[in-house]
Amino acid sequence: MRKNLDNCKRIIIKIGSSLISQDKSLSIKKIEEWTEQINKIKEKDKQIIIVSSGAISQGMNILNMKEKPQNLESLQALAAIGQQQLIGMYENAFKKFNIKTAQVLLTHDDIANKEKYNNARATLEKILDLDVIPIINENDVVATEEIRFGDNDNLAAMVANLIKVDLLIILTDQNGYYDKNPTIDTNAKLIDNCKISDLIIENNLETTNQFGTGGFKTKLQAVKRASDSNTITIVASGLQQQVLLKIFNGDNIGTLFE
Ligand code: GLU
Repeated sequence: MRKNLDNCKRIIIKIGSSLISQDKSLSIKKIEEWTEQINKIKEKDKQIIIVSSGAISQGMNILNMKEKPQNLESLQALAAIGQQQLIGMYENAFKKFNIKTAQVLLTHDDIANKEKYNNARATLEKILDLDVIPIINENDVVATEEIRFGDNDNLAAMVANLIKVDLLIILTDQNGYYDKNPTIDTNAKLIDNCKISDLIIENNLETTNQFGTGGFKTKLQAVKRASDSNTITIVASGLQQQVLLKIFNGDNIGTLFE
């Protein structure tokens, strides 16, 4: 039986790069599906924070670029070009439900530095007080190698620590956490519930797709980090129909880490 999530009031939904592709209309369709579900969840008196990747892929879409460049400057430029399109997609989708959104861009440095940490926390708390959904991404434009999160899984976990989030839902293109690497082992089984103490991060799969920087390793790091503030994490497939509603319905979907 799945842990009851009724007491989870403050929830981060992290949407990975693998789900927001260069295909703009497909991405809009997915975002519309999630926002419709988020609207229903929000009606149950829950606070929602979104951490979304996809700025770089939208930049590639705008410039009609097929291959993702490797150098940092190009990625930063693409993120700057694509971020407004990404945020616009969420803004439009939420408008249908009269839900307002705020764009929040953070770097690792903003959370490591005490003064900036307090500022970021106070601003996020205020946005939530105003009943607005923060949509967070890494501030890729100013994030040099040293101060980058590098992947939004860890960014989401740090935000969970920052504002004491009850539940972190990481939506990705995989069904959850397997006992073996499912890409090479057909006997791999999906784990429903996993204790943080049982996690062996190093042995796990490091798959990345063209758009994502994370792979599963960073998800497990994020799970561990989020557990510092007692945040439960669920990793599930964002491609599954009604995934968010199913999670709150207590269905055995994805992997729940406690
Ligand atoms: N911040 C990057 C973007 O919006 C993505 C980082 C990641 O995928 O983890 O494209």
